[in-house]
Amino acid sequence: MTGEFTSLPDVEPSRLVIERTQNPKKPPPPSGLVFGHTFTDHMLTIPWNASSGWGAPKIQPYGPLSLEPSATVFHYAQALFEGLKAYRDQNGKVTLFRPDMNMKRMNSSAKRIALPTFNGDHVIELIQELIRLDKHWIPAQPGYSLYIRPTLIGSQPALGIAPPNEALLFVICSPVGPYYPQGFKPVALYGTTEYTRASAGGIGAYKLGANYAPGVVAQKEAAKLGYVQNLWLHGPQHHITEVGTMNAFAVFKRSDGATELVTPPLDGIILPGVTRDSVLALARDHASGKAKVPELPENLVVSERSMTMKEVKDAAANGSLLEFFGTGTAAVISPVDRIGYLGEDVHIPTGPDGMGPVSRPIWKQLVGIQMGSVAHPWSVVVTE
Ligand SMILES: *Cc1c(COP(=O)(O)O)cnc(C)c1O
Repeated sequence: MTGEFTSLPDVEPSRLVIERTQNPKKPPPPSGLVFGHTFTDHMLTIPWNASSGWGAPKIQPYGPLSLEPSATVFHYAQALFEGLKAYRDQNGKVTLFRPDMNMKRMNSSAKRIALPTFNGDHVIELIQELIRLDKHWIPAQPGYSLYIRPTLIGSQPALGIAPPNEALLFVICSPVGPYYPQGFKPVALYGTTEYTRASAGGIGAYKLGANYAPGVVAQKEAAKLGYVQNLWLHGPQHHITEVGTMNAFAVFKRSDGATELVTPPLDGIILPGVTRDSVLALARDHASGKAKVPELPENLVVSERSMTMKEVKDAAANGSLLEFFGTGTAAVISPVDRIGYLGEDVHIPTGPDGMGPVSRPIWKQLVGIQMGSVAHPWSVVVTE
């Protein structure tokens, strides 16, 4: 994708300037890592200006940014982000998982809040350069990875509400541990009816910073009631939309004998997750016979359709709900064993390993692709 301001320079990897740190840190022992609290030695920054376009990319020591207090990001939430991981696979290669999808989504988020777009392939090249410099920060233990956080903010020092004429794209990296260090632990969700996450014509389909601050209160209230995450419900019929910051999936046994994998459609209030898309693609290729996923049920039907809390509750009561799970880059798949809904708990079956008949084989296949045991074009090699 090319920038919106086509007459101005786009992000250009050949202009990269690298300033290495003079004080390399020692990566901490992996066992003590807390998600998103530790950052590597370097970061990537790319400035943008409305009159001169994208400036020279720079890899420099990780450290504070200099922004004026009037910068638009602090006042009007001109901020968007991405989250992807670099894996050290079982062959010793460092890989990224479908980074093109993250760049596509980042550009779509940028357009929604009038921030500049950019050539995603070029930013991937620069992110790869950053990873090669800091790859010793990726712990070698299975399940560990490097979480990459590309961010774009409006940085113009001016209080008018307008498209900013200055912006900054930056990328920071954080070594992270497995989401489930002791094996899968199904989570309990609280069906939130007091707040909504998104609405038609709003910003729910974009990874904008503004989507997340209002979720903290809903998450806190769910936690106070003894649930791990909240389940975002929408509209008077309580349509299921997202599991906290993950996409939502349910599996039903249908009366015709088919196993139906369901996730809400991308109707503008759902975040188009890369994991969501990958789960759907693997399941569809299995169902069509194009590429079988080992152990996934035959007679699988894949549906992007809306589902209400009532459908899930009724299916749980009559035994036709086989499983419920969330998907996202951090956890890949997060099984759910209970949903608190209007004062009652809906109980959801989980297998002895915490997973279900559809999530288990799909999780194995996805992690196999990420760890290099399953060859797949989604896995992009950064360094051999
Ligand atoms: C990031 C995110 C997801 C998951 O997207 P992935 O690309 O799979 O990581 C789902 N829902 C929300 C609200 C998100 O912010």
